[in-house]
Amino acid sequence: MSKPDKPYRKREIAGHTLSPETQMMSYGYDPKLSEMSIKPPIFLTSTFAFESAEHGAAFFRVTLGQAEEGDPEAAGLMYSRFNNPNMEVLEDRLALYDGAEECCVFSSGMAAISTTLMGLAHSGSVILQSTPLYGGTESLIRKFLPNYGIQSVDFFAGAHEDEIHAAADEALAKGEVSVIYTETPTNPTNDQVDLNVCRRLVDLIEKKQGKRPYLVVDNTFLGPVGQKPMELGADVVVYSLTKYIGGHSDLIAGSASGTTEAMAQIRGLRGYLGTNLDPHTCWMLLRSLETVKLRMEAAALGARKVAEFLRDHPKVNRVRYLGFLEEGTRDGDVFKAQSSSAGSTFAFDLESEAAAFRMLNALQVMKLAVSLGGTETLICHPGSTTHRGVDPELRKRQGFSDGLVRISVGIENPDDLIADLKQALEHA
Ligand SMILES: *Cc1c(COP(=O)(O)O)cnc(C)c1O
Repeated sequence: MSKPDKPYRKREIAGHTLSPETQMMSYGYDPKLSEMSIKPPIFLTSTFAFESAEHGAAFFRVTLGQAEEGDPEAAGLMYSRFNNPNMEVLEDRLALYDGAEECCVFSSGMAAISTTLMGLAHSGSVILQSTPLYGGTESLIRKFLPNYGIQSVDFFAGAHEDEIHAAADEALAKGEVSVIYTETPTNPTNDQVDLNVCRRLVDLIEKKQGKRPYLVVDNTFLGPVGQKPMELGADVVVYSLTKYIGGHSDLIAGSASGTTEAMAQIRGLRGYLGTNLDPHTCWMLLRSLETVKLRMEAAALGARKVAEFLRDHPKVNRVRYLGFLEEGTRDGDVFKAQSSSAGSTFAFDLESEAAAFRMLNALQVMKLAVSLGGTETLICHPGSTTHRGVDPELRKRQGFSDGLVRISVGIENPDDLIADLKQALEHA
């Protein structure tokens, strides 16, 4: 929780604001509390001793929202399902990077997304979602949440404002719109959701129903380095930290950052569901955050080279790379307005599924795996893997082709990746 008054939560020196990449080495950690250790030790403990019975009582009052005069502003350390030093340092740094007031970390991206949606929506309410979303999120909203009385209405990522308004009217007819949920750019088609339009939609829906819906944005693809949804009006930003932020394909984790008001509900539910993150993984993520900007920038440079190679290859029908979007087009203008990097995950289309499989099987450097955002390049065929659970009709409407391949470019030398693709495409 942000308390900029503390010396280890310093945000500026002599009127100069410190940048997030600098803060990732220090923010939120006080060596004095850990034997002057430069790095935070891993606090492998389930519970924390109270200095006195009164302290323990005050912490629980604060946590349960029953604070009394003289109680501390934030509860001290209590129990590792609620808080832990490694969790707190990580949450402080992620909130800072996102420009959010608070952050909660979770045992996976899906834990972050499900806890966020269940914390902000309620039975009888409607989630207005853009589509396509990450396969797991799409299924959670369409197949699981209806069991709890939470319905949904969708609009296409690239829809025009009037189409989105029509979807909003449909949602309002079903019930109170509690959440507008979006993911941009989309996975794996790299369509753009216009966050300015979403922000106006929040205002419009508030006017119509008298209650403000929350705008939640999954920012996994471009990360805090390439896109800042909080600055564009989001109430909550969610991540699969498994991807670029973790960045080494060696952990599973998620986060939600946002306003104090929204996060209070999400944090509360996390405590009951127990979807929190363990101290060891928190520590690994602190290490990852120190290099996230370097890694994402290096991967983005490599991705541009790879995308340019693919664009010129006769067996590749289409390359859906953000860096190729042209100014003056709808997607190009939205991209330019809200993102500062084209990232390093994109899709390209081969003639057929069979051609895609032949190419994938011939690769020698890049690995065939789902997931993205690691130091190594990963490649997959979403139609038969990550998006298999999505209704084939819907997949067609979302612009999938049978030969669509997704690549997440890592930080290898891009010339090696190009050589690998070149020889593998011979088989396509
Ligand atoms: C991977 C991913 C998720 C789910 O995250 P997990 O850490 O696998 O639970 C959610 N959203 C997007 C965009 C993702 O890529």
